[in-house]
Amino acid sequence: MNEAIKKNILNTIKSYDKIIITRHQRPDGDALGSTRGLAGILRASFPEKDIRLLSEDRSEELAFLGPEDETPPDSFYEGALVIVLDTGTKDRIANGKIHLAAEVIKIDHHPANDLPYGDICWIEEGRSSICEMIVDFYVSFKDELILTPEAATALYTGMVTDSGRFRFPSVTGDTLRLAAVLLDQGIDTESLFARLYMEDYEFFKYEAYVYEHMERTENGVAYLFVTREMQERFGLSREAASNTIGLMDSIKGCLIWLAFIDNGDGSIRVRLRSRFTEVQPLAARYGGGGHDRASGATVHSWEEALKMVAEADAQLGEYKATHEGWL
Ligand code: AMP
Repeated sequence: MNEAIKKNILNTIKSYDKIIITRHQRPDGDALGSTRGLAGILRASFPEKDIRLLSEDRSEELAFLGPEDETPPDSFYEGALVIVLDTGTKDRIANGKIHLAAEVIKIDHHPANDLPYGDICWIEEGRSSICEMIVDFYVSFKDELILTPEAATALYTGMVTDSGRFRFPSVTGDTLRLAAVLLDQGIDTESLFARLYMEDYEFFKYEAYVYEHMERTENGVAYLFVTREMQERFGLSREAASNTIGLMDSIKGCLIWLAFIDNGDGSIRVRLRSRFTEVQPLAARYGGGGHDRASGATVHSWEEALKMVAEADAQLGEYKATHEGWL
């Protein structure tokens, strides 16, 4: 079935002169890598087409991947194809203008949801990253498509970041076989990993602060409030503040960890992560969603945040009481 969808996508791409490639708001490595990678492949393969990669909502940390295009005028959408990558729900699309386009393709790995969009949808929930799907697409039509080293680097960046450096359970033999296709292009992995791991001196001071101030509930939910004051004190970018979640991922006995990041506009972004037990239902109860063990939501007060912590704690208590073998 997916083979037929992929063929349909390729034929649709071929039938348009103008193509806009976009992704979700607050792009991460996979959203950036997949859009850049697909744009690179399509530009190299179809040089006669006008292909735009949206520049709204950029990532400072992944700016090394290179510049993006200016936002096109509304008139550009007329008769154009839009390809949306890595975006489960319509309201999270970085570009609110897709309705101006002639046709929309959605390529995604998030669970199906109640805000469907897209004329053609290729959705594989089990995939470790959208970049993996884009490489799969390239491999399926290798005789017709061209993969450049720049596109390969962007796609590899998305694959390694979205799979936790090939650590997550979603990584399969196919993931590594597809990653190998990218490595064969000659990716400078030394520079790439240095860029992915390097942090400013101040960030390490922030890390020390996080470990000093994070909290743990009775049943082992680790959580931290990243207040405006903290963000200002440590000069944190939005991304650096968001990355706090990753600092809490290996605490023994803490199978759920939550970071609450004050957006400064009355809303608080919640990042939820877990091992073994699922946090997606909890996120959904607060109007959010995402993957089983990596979800997001928004709350509007610290009281609401604490309520969420309490619910997570109750869930984890129940999980630990009824399961064995968790770490
Ligand atoms: P994040 O913590 O932002 O990396 O989000 C983890 C996953 O949850 C992402 O793959 C998003 O698709 C999803 N997600 C994040 N925030 C929301 C939200 N407010 N509503 C629905 N899904 C979300």
